[in-house]
Amino acid sequence: MADLNSKITLKLLIDARSDKVLVGEAGKDFVDFMFSLLTLPLGCIIKLLSPSTMIGSIGKLYQSVENLNEIYLVANREKSSLLQPKLSTPYVTNHLLLDTETSVELRYYICNYCNRRITTVKNTLCPNCKQVMVTETAFVVPSYSTSCATRAENTGENVGGFVKGVVTYMITDDLEVTPMSAISSITLIHRFSMKKDVQLMEKVVTVGMEEGIALLKASLDSSTPLTDVFCSPKKKAKATSSSTVDLMT
Ligand SMILES: [Zn+2]
Repeated sequence: MADLNSKITLKLLIDARSDKVLVGEAGKDFVDFMFSLLTLPLGCIIKLLSPSTMIGSIGKLYQSVENLNEIYLVANREKSSLLQPKLSTPYVTNHLLLDTETSVELRYYICNYCNRRITTVKNTLCPNCKQVMVTETAFVVPSYSTSCATRAENTGENVGGFVKGVVTYMITDDLEVTPMSAISSITLIHRFSMKKDVQLMEKVVTVGMEEGIALLKASLDSSTPLTDVFCSPKKKAKATSSSTVDLMT
C-alpha cells in the first residue's frame, strides 16, 4: 500500500454555478495512478469495490469463487489467485489501492540445468529437462537496469509509473488525458468563455485511498467521474483549498 501520508494532489477548474468539473490539471503522480487502473486485474477491482456493488453479474461470479470449497480446486491452486490476483505489470510497484501483499513482486524460479525455462511456482518440473526448478532469480524492470541508466537519466525514465514527470497533463471530466500545451490551454479558455453563466473556480483536491476507490468506481459507471468524486456535496468540505476566480464577469 502506498504511504498513507503521501497523497496525490489534483488541480481542478470547476464551474461553481453548475458545480461541475470543467477540466483538471494533473502531474505525473495522478496520471500514473489513473493509468494504473488499467493494470488492475478484474478480481482486484471487484474486491476493492465489493462484489455486491458491481454492475452486471460479475460480482456473483466472484462470490462463487469465495463460496467454493477448496476441495474442488486443483492442488497448489489457491483461491487468492482469483480473488486477489497480482498485478500483471512490474512498473507499478506501489499502487495506491493495493496492499503490499497484492502488489508485491512475483518470485521467479529458473531451471538450473538448462537455464531455458522460468516459473513463478517453486518446485515446478522443467518441461525442457524434467528437473525441479528451485533457484530463485530476480526480475529486472527494464528502466531500472544499469545498461539503460544513462539514457534513463536524460529522459526521466528512471522512475516508476508510466508517464514522464516533466509534463503537466490535462484531464477532462470523462477522463480524456492529454499533455497540456499552450494551444490546448488557449483552446480551453476560448471554449469556456463562449459559455454564458460560467463561474470559474479553482480547487485543489487530494487523492488518497478513499478518493482513489471512488474514482475507480465512478470511472466504471459514470461519464463524469471527476465531478462525481470531487464535487458531490459531501466531498466539497474535503477540498484542501479553493478560490473563486471570476474570469467570466
Ligand atoms: Zn530445464
